[in-house]
Amino acid sequence: MGPGTGAVAAGEAGGFGVYVHVPFCRSRCDYCAFATYVDRDHLFADYAEACIAEARHAVAEEGIPPATSVFFGGGTPSRLPPDLLLAILDAVPRAHGAEVTVECNPEDVTPERLAAYRAAGVTRVSIGGQSTVPHVLAGLGRRHTPGALVAAAAAAAGAGLASWNVDLIMGGAGESDEDWDRSLADLLTLDAPPPHLSVYALTVEPGTPLAADPSRHPDDDVLARRYERADDLLQGAGYRWEEISNWARPGHGCRHNRLYWARGEYRGIGSAAHSHRQGRRWWNVRTPDRYVARVRAGRSPQAGEEVLAPAQQALEALALGLRTPAGVPEAAVPDAPELAGLVERRAGRAVLTRRGRLLADAVAARLVVPAAT
Ligand code: SF4
Repeated sequence: MGPGTGAVAAGEAGGFGVYVHVPFCRSRCDYCAFATYVDRDHLFADYAEACIAEARHAVAEEGIPPATSVFFGGGTPSRLPPDLLLAILDAVPRAHGAEVTVECNPEDVTPERLAAYRAAGVTRVSIGGQSTVPHVLAGLGRRHTPGALVAAAAAAAGAGLASWNVDLIMGGAGESDEDWDRSLADLLTLDAPPPHLSVYALTVEPGTPLAADPSRHPDDDVLARRYERADDLLQGAGYRWEEISNWARPGHGCRHNRLYWARGEYRGIGSAAHSHRQGRRWWNVRTPDRYVARVRAGRSPQAGEEVLAPAQQALEALALGLRTPAGVPEAAVPDAPELAGLVERRAGRAVLTRRGRLLADAVAARLVVPAAT
């Protein structure tokens, strides 16, 4: 590999990630503020070509090392025809045994597609399920049919992948405690339940249809109750929490996520993709049209960058570590009365309690960089 390989391979988490952004969706969900588009399908081939060019440039000019994890996120990566997605993957140098994840919409998770993915080196799919309850899906503005998630889960379980994940969203309008239990139970009682689950609280993003309709905004107490219920059911079923919103069975943690949580280094490919290398962060132009135009013209797609001071980097690493069971050095969390019950101190570490996980932002706001770190 080119210059810089050794330094990058020594990223804080070990390993190096590549993130590929796929900015296409079939329809826009009411709560979504991601950089994704429903009217740009005519760009599929041009976009893939530009991603391949950017990946090759990163290899040739920046000397990025072989990726230990590759993550196709979006948007809806499974919206891209598989041959185009896999052509992008081909352009990314990968380390032996690399984890390769593709985010999928439930309707796209067919045995044929999974077989094509797996043959090309995909090891993991992450299914955006959100709920198994019809009126909850409708309240979220999701268009997929409720049975699609269970069918997709069965296909993923039978595809011979190393692992797979389902995303759920709690707090949708009209969702009762019983509905939430049902979504979890529908997944956990499958013959082969997902080995990894991500559970996100519905968040109200400015400018979305959800933001414009306060009657559908989630209630904090309800979200806390749903979170505790999910944690109880998942821990009881043999999952352990990996991060505030993520649970996995042993051996099924997501390497790419862990790289992010350890503030490791990664290269983002595609529109709106972010990169982090050697203390510098940068991001690409937001729209696929501008991205394709820039790359075609032989120009950099970069839109901006920032370099964090060492103290900021240390604080950021603490805030990320706090969200995991490894926690942070004990001295990073002040012994303040308002933090009582939110962290547990043991063996020199401070780890969030379950109540602390619900109030993680309040704890993070009080973090201090210990003199020794
Ligand atoms: S499928 Fe995902 S990325 Fe696409 S609109 Fe819905 S939430 Fe946003």
